[in-house]
Amino acid sequence: MGPRTAAETFRKRTADAKHYRVTLYGSLAATGKGHLTGNAVREALAPARVQIIWKPDFAKKRHPNALTIDACDGAKRGVTATFYSIGGGAIEEEGSSGKRAGDVYRISSMKQMLAWARTRGKTIASYVFETEPAIEKYLAKVWRVMRQAIRRGSTASGVLPGVLKLERKASSYHAKANNARSVVRDVTLVFAGALAVAEENASGGIVVTAPTCGAAGVLPSVLSYIAQVNGVTEKKIIEALAVAGMIGNIVKTNASISGAEAGCQAEIGTACAMTAGAAAYLFGGTSRQIEYAAEMGMEHHLGLTCDPVAGLVQIPCIERNAMAAMRALEAAIYALASDGMHRISFDDVVATMKRTGHDLGSAYRETSAGGLALHFTKNGKQSISIGIRKTKRRKRP
Ligand code: SF4
Repeated sequence: MGPRTAAETFRKRTADAKHYRVTLYGSLAATGKGHLTGNAVREALAPARVQIIWKPDFAKKRHPNALTIDACDGAKRGVTATFYSIGGGAIEEEGSSGKRAGDVYRISSMKQMLAWARTRGKTIASYVFETEPAIEKYLAKVWRVMRQAIRRGSTASGVLPGVLKLERKASSYHAKANNARSVVRDVTLVFAGALAVAEENASGGIVVTAPTCGAAGVLPSVLSYIAQVNGVTEKKIIEALAVAGMIGNIVKTNASISGAEAGCQAEIGTACAMTAGAAAYLFGGTSRQIEYAAEMGMEHHLGLTCDPVAGLVQIPCIERNAMAAMRALEAAIYALASDGMHRISFDDVVATMKRTGHDLGSAYRETSAGGLALHFTKNGKQSISIGIRKTKRRKRP
């Protein structure tokens, strides 16, 4: 989404150009084929001719997801711009400071958020609605799109695009959930929702970035499960989305939601924190309990690497959405059973995630050069084998 937005932005500035050169750097180039980045850029610049140069071994200092676009002809020939895809579809341009979440929300840390809620006796959701009154309508649309993605993904079948030829699983999980009972039914239902959205994303369908496309299944699956089982109103769900958004903004402002910048902890970890906080809110948690749930959602993903197999957002991403959805529910329930007091704050864990992300080698930050990605080549073939080496049995003397 980021590269597409960048290309659309540049296209508007150089409308008469018929030839562009696009250079993809760092992880954008390393996983660009699997993420269909080339197609997205070509579509955004169509009908112009687009020459794409892949530079996976060169990462720009500001952010590992970078692209430069040059207009090669027309009145604006020679015009060039470099953009950074900073996660969740957002872009920043070289030479700009970048419009960050903090520009809209004066509160940029959980500590400030809790102090605001405590002194006024109000909820986190009410802060969001007071700051951005129009967002309520927008969040209603977000919820609609999330439910549509679950519905579509739960009935679709077949193989996902790409060299892995991965079968869609959401519909069979959905059917199994309907035939199961008690805890097995509930857990399978949460899995099914997360798989449905993650598979929609992997097939190029419409999803809500929450906070990114790769981690888009966590929040809708848990919200949909709670709505179904606890019968909460749409108004409450929209408030929970506001809580989730506030948590995501705090992470984005103080750390990162980009797998290329800080590993999967930044994507799935943030999705889990947002979802845990939203679920705690729906279960009637206090702001402190919401903070605790979000802290656990992130804390127990610290160090999680980003190593998408064959550069596709499929393995481990799809299953990871299902696992994180359950972890978010657990974190919410755990926090609800407490008084909300705990030692490591959400802000501390966000700062830790940022440091940990920078300490991760680049092979573990969306380059498909390490971890699980090593088990397959770019064309989806098994590249190395692991197993238990058979040792010869010693003869007894
Ligand atoms: S492994 Fe990487 S690509 Fe997959 S969900 Fe995590 S951050 Fe996104």
